Amino acid sequence: MILLDGKKLAQKIKESIKDEISIFVAQGKRPPTLSVILVGDNPASQIYVNKKIKDCQEVGIVSKPFFLPKDITQIELEDVIGSLNGDDEIDGILVQLPLPSHIDTLEIIQCINPNKDVDGFHPENVGKLATGRKGGILPCTPYGIMKILQEYKIDTFGKDVVIVGASNIVGKPMGLLFLWEERSTVTICHRNTKDLKEHTRGADILVVATGVPHLIKRDMIKEGAVVIDVGINRIDGKIVGDVDFEGLRDKVYAITPVPGGVGPMTVAMLLQNTLEVYKRRVGIL
Ligand code: NAD
Repeated sequence: MILLDGKKLAQKIKESIKDEISIFVAQGKRPPTLSVILVGDNPASQIYVNKKIKDCQEVGIVSKPFFLPKDITQIELEDVIGSLNGDDEIDGILVQLPLPSHIDTLEIIQCINPNKDVDGFHPENVGKLATGRKGGILPCTPYGIMKILQEYKIDTFGKDVVIVGASNIVGKPMGLLFLWEERSTVTICHRNTKDLKEHTRGADILVVATGVPHLIKRDMIKEGAVVIDVGINRIDGKIVGDVDFEGLRDKVYAITPVPGGVGPMTVAMLLQNTLEVYKRRVGIL
């Protein structure tokens, strides 16, 4: 079994980002700047935002956090984003999700300048992903998963890929990425899929992003499958994935651990996207 070590790969990517930024700064350029917006006091979101800020510091990206009250109005939040859109010193804008229920999340995402949308959630970037057009910004989690597969030389060409979970931030964009250049045959399952096991057992590559702890059991995969576990679930103070790792480990060809698999890669790709948009903005690309 090959352990797909996302933590190690993320570290390698962060080091190369740091090296690149230090060269630009030594040339007299300003460093990349990312604004991170957190609305309210959701503890999990606070942890994610703090991790993103810390990782920015580690590689030399300036982070500008905005901690906004949970009762902020739609208009007020749109105004904050509008001012960041117009600020030449800000390269990337990230709005931590989920937003409070009185806020229209899709409207907020649409307010972000697509060229600063480092999460890759703006419809313009989603459209580029869907049509295979280069020059868009890729969503961090699917992008990170593709990097893991590349790093471990796992070929996706002609493979049967099954994705469990059809969210806008993981499942759907993941499916679109596998469809680029018609590489893989993609099935996307979700909570209304009739017979989940029938699909997952056919997967050469199985990506699971549901938020249901240990949903995928040993009898649900085929021998020699590659399994990517996106899930982050807190149970009794421990973080577990959507896959029963221990039950699957001697049946798979390769598998990501939780923690230490997809999670660190998501943050690394956020930093990578911030560097890319910065380079476009200061004319390096
Ligand atoms: P979501 O809640 O938006 O979507 C969940 C999807 O799973 C839905 O499409 C739903 O239909 C499907 N689903 C739920 N129960 C199912 C079941 N029993 N059978 C089949 N499908 C089922 O979730 P999301 O935002 O995509 O996140 C999914 C998980 O991934 C969560 O645990 C989240 O914390 C984690 N996540 C991790 C990262 C990372 O960097 N590792 C990034 C994003 C999300």
